[in-house]
Amino acid sequence: MFESLSDRLQNIFSGLRGKGRLTEDDINSAMREIRMALLEADVNFKVVKQFTADTKQRCLEAEVLESLTPAQNVVKIVLDELTKLLGENDAKLNTSSRIPNVIMLVGLQGSGKTTAAAKLAYLLKGKGHVPLLVAGDVYRPAAADQLETLGGEIGVKVFRGDGKDPVQIAKDGVRYAIDNLRDVVIVDTAGRLHVDEQMMDEAAAIKEAVKPEEILMVVDAMTGQDVVNVASAFAEKVEFDGVIMSKMDGDARGGGALSLKQVTGKPIKFISAGEKPDSLEEFHPDRMAKRILG
Ligand code: GDP
Repeated sequence: MFESLSDRLQNIFSGLRGKGRLTEDDINSAMREIRMALLEADVNFKVVKQFTADTKQRCLEAEVLESLTPAQNVVKIVLDELTKLLGENDAKLNTSSRIPNVIMLVGLQGSGKTTAAAKLAYLLKGKGHVPLLVAGDVYRPAAADQLETLGGEIGVKVFRGDGKDPVQIAKDGVRYAIDNLRDVVIVDTAGRLHVDEQMMDEAAAIKEAVKPEEILMVVDAMTGQDVVNVASAFAEKVEFDGVIMSKMDGDARGGGALSLKQVTGKPIKFISAGEKPDSLEEFHPDRMAKRILG
């Protein structure tokens, strides 16, 4: 992911370094190239416009142009602005003193939600928590089996509940956690192919019933900047707290990751880069920005 954007940016910067002193024209043409590189990486148009305007303004300041290492200063400014775009600070999970804390996962079918639930359980287990996974996706018959298999692999109990009512299953899951001393409940919910009314209503009803400390939307990095539309549509109906971006190991151009925070206001909290249980990581905007700049 980000490979082609990284290559483009590195070329632009090495062009600037080769020049020694920089003029306003040099900055203008570098900004034009950065703009093209971001658009080709599928970054949202408005985000690109704002990014290049802000970056250009900072680069044209006298102390940058007249410094001994202007190209290096330009790189530093782009790094700063990219970090800002990705969310600036690390976004932590919301927690409360209530036991158990409840985390609810929502997202389209195939986004990686069920595997993300297990990966998150694994990550929290590694931090000393005793999680419970709740299989609330009652429409895809294999979802509960899949979660159960994953739970078995990582040694985390999966609560399946009786019947077909996901709201009841979520409530019973929380009750089970209380009775069995689990301190975090991760509720997997149904995903559909498109954001639809029934899916939203159900997610809203589960939210109302178990009052999660944290609602995470799982989005597939391969969807490109369309993740912004999916996340915005979802946020209108079910206010969520942050995003797990999955499939960061694929060859996505990166537009989704770079557009999401700016357009939807929702931070990326975790990224997943693989199918294995240990492939979920906390998201650090500064590290990702450095990785993009190479
Ligand atoms: P759900 O329908 O949203 O619950 O999606 P699943 O959790 O079943 O994931 C759909 C497919 O994507 C499965 O084959 C997962 O193994 C795969 N997957 C999920 N996350 C990642 C990831 O970060 N990287 C890769 N390469 N595959 C993933």
